[in-house]
Amino acid sequence: MNNSHTHTHEKLRSEIYEGKRISAEDALTLFRWHVIELGMAADHRRKLAFPQEKVGFVIDRIINYTNICEAKCAFCAYHAHAGRVEPYELTINEICRKIEELIEGGGTQVMLQGGLHPDHRLDNYLTMIKTIRERFPEIYLHSFSPAELVHISGKNGISLDETVQSLKDAGLNSVPGASDLLVDRIRNAVSPKKCTREEWCEVMRTLYRCGMTSTATMTYGMGETLAERIAHLEVIRDIQDETGILKAFIPWSFSPARTRLEHITPATGVDYLKIVAIARIFLDNIKFIQAGWLTEGTKLAQVALAAGANDMGGVLTEEVVVKATGIETQITMNGMISLIRDAGKMPVQRDSQYHEIRRFE
Ligand code: SF4
Repeated sequence: MNNSHTHTHEKLRSEIYEGKRISAEDALTLFRWHVIELGMAADHRRKLAFPQEKVGFVIDRIINYTNICEAKCAFCAYHAHAGRVEPYELTINEICRKIEELIEGGGTQVMLQGGLHPDHRLDNYLTMIKTIRERFPEIYLHSFSPAELVHISGKNGISLDETVQSLKDAGLNSVPGASDLLVDRIRNAVSPKKCTREEWCEVMRTLYRCGMTSTATMTYGMGETLAERIAHLEVIRDIQDETGILKAFIPWSFSPARTRLEHITPATGVDYLKIVAIARIFLDNIKFIQAGWLTEGTKLAQVALAAGANDMGGVLTEEVVVKATGIETQITMNGMISLIRDAGKMPVQRDSQYHEIRRFE
């Protein structure tokens, strides 16, 4: 290491510990830091923003109501054309039965997720939401995705504002930010039929105008450069500066098995921890960084709690998209409580807006 490099490293280290916003250029250099040093700096930043050692989780259920999708993304093992899962569509009664089970198990949140269905129109979605809302007024619907919203508005020939407002009026509460990688070069290569980076941003602005919240995610390890990873984070930080609607950031590594990108070497655990830590430091306007126990495994998720993460996401009672790639991690509520406790933190059951429901001292 030469002197000027050491100087820059030390200067950046001080800026991080002082809680300052860092530039994209500086964030890129963090990939060269040792993972432990980076994790400690991120943990410090987490403490500045969120001093308590509490880690939240929500009891939710992802309901993949259909896997019929015309986008055929290269990284997806779930849609019917990937040939791993038979094409299906759940009826509204099947969906409602799953919600009943969730409520019986103390659950509070439903994530309805489908593909870009070639035949569904806004009315199909409105009927689904209204029926659920009437039967389960208490359930929180954190559902669909920016790509689905762009798809619905395109199929119906109506504006995004009208699409989002109608869904909200029917009873939709918020929309997960399903961001993949917000880098056009990668999107064109792996998911050319999904919404573009700019359309994703427009969905966020629309949600903001309609008074709804969202989250941001990141699927990395799809052949992008380190600079493109930072470019993704920059899109998210900018949109959060503009709207303030992003409740959480959720990174996960791309799992190439059973997809058309099977030749890609999976990202490592060190890559994951660095992404979590850099996200905590760079995304200084997002309070909750989620540890991905489902995709990264429970033990790595525990380590992530020492490297900037402060939320565990959902105790999912059903999930089939990740399962389609061969990952089979499952967890119960008691398992989640032990997982958080054993990492030296206090487990807290939260609602979808991150309010505490119950704490497990
Ligand atoms: S990732 Fe989503 S949009 Fe892409 S093929 Fe899979 S279900 Fe369809």
